[in-house]
Amino acid sequence: MNIPASILTGTTEGEGSPPAGGLPGVAELVGHGPIDTDTARALAGNAPGWDRLFVNPTTGHVLEIDRYQPSADQRRILRVRDEHCRFPGCRYPATRSDADHTIDAAHGGPTAISNLGHFCRRHHTLKHHTRWKADNLPGGLIRWTSPLGITYTDKPPRTVVFTTPDDTPPPF
Ligand SMILES: [Zn+2]
Repeated sequence: MNIPASILTGTTEGEGSPPAGGLPGVAELVGHGPIDTDTARALAGNAPGWDRLFVNPTTGHVLEIDRYQPSADQRRILRVRDEHCRFPGCRYPATRSDADHTIDAAHGGPTAISNLGHFCRRHHTLKHHTRWKADNLPGGLIRWTSPLGITYTDKPPRTVVFTTPDDTPPPF
């Protein structure tokens, strides 16, 4: 199913004229054809994840694909890297934290290990709704900047770790 973001955000009702190479402005069920906006929104609400396509606005050609939700492999890597919430001093387990985009996907941040980190609900809220700012640095470092401009760099707990593929506890 292909749904223009403008339909999901309610900024269009799908009445626009489609540019060359695609049907932007019109939701489409692959293998079926165009579908109405209400059906598209209902289906979108039940989808477990989405691929984000960047298309050339003139030709309609796909330029890049990104997925908003981290893949299962990305989640495993992040859980091993982070172990816990990445706010300095917080030890809330990664398994119960949110894997969040450091640069928001809505602002162009990719769904990549270099732009993701685990944040517990409290620090996830802090990041999005206060003047605290987080930046990913090379090596899995996350630099936090307080509202007063003071920076704190959080290092991932370990650089090498062995874990079972399905996250079950080891037999020892
Ligand atoms: Zn936390």
